[in-house]
Amino acid sequence: MSGPEVLRFAANLYRVPVEGGYFLVDAGLPWEAERLLALLKSPPRLLFLTHHHLDHSGGARALWKLFGLPVLAHPREWPYLTGKKPRPPLPIPLLGRWLANLGPPLPEEALVPVEEGEEVLGWRVVALPGHTLGQVGLLKEGVLLAGDALRGRGLPPRFINEDHEGARRTVRKILDLGAEWAYLGHGGPLARQEVEALARRLGV
Ligand SMILES: [Zn+2]
Ligand SMILES: [Zn+2]
Repeated sequence: MSGPEVLRFAANLYRVPVEGGYFLVDAGLPWEAERLLALLKSPPRLLFLTHHHLDHSGGARALWKLFGLPVLAHPREWPYLTGKKPRPPLPIPLLGRWLANLGPPLPEEALVPVEEGEEVLGWRVVALPGHTLGQVGLLKEGVLLAGDALRGRGLPPRFINEDHEGARRTVRKILDLGAEWAYLGHGGPLARQEVEALARRLGV
């Protein structure tokens, strides 16, 4: 089986080949949905959301409306995805809350809960809390789809992490899971040695 294919949008999205097709990890910004839909030649089996941030989940509603596909996300992320709770504001004066919540909410009927340890089409769900509390990734044969657990060669900045200490601990967890490659929402992929170097810098 070939590996995940990166689709470069505001965030990296991933097309993951599986038996009989592929599934999609993350959905981009709401206003990127048209470009994303044009690029997908056949319907994904499902959409897996790593976390609720708009650059990862903003296109989910458009995908669900067109394909009626299941949208998998950790239950801690649901209140933001369905609009029951406003997302934490972006660090932009006055407009921060508005900008963080420009996405059309997903109806709850679109969502399927995923928890650590479950299997998704041959990939194992792993909890990667910190950047958001309900962030999840997918692991298979040493390849980790890590969402925003790592960013570039480091962590996302403290002010956009819901629990920065948790985000530091998650770097250690990624190593303990045996990940050889981490595919990221921004930058990457990172080889294990680079994650090890980061863990040393962070003292975890
Ligand atoms: Zn994020
Ligand atoms: Zn992101």
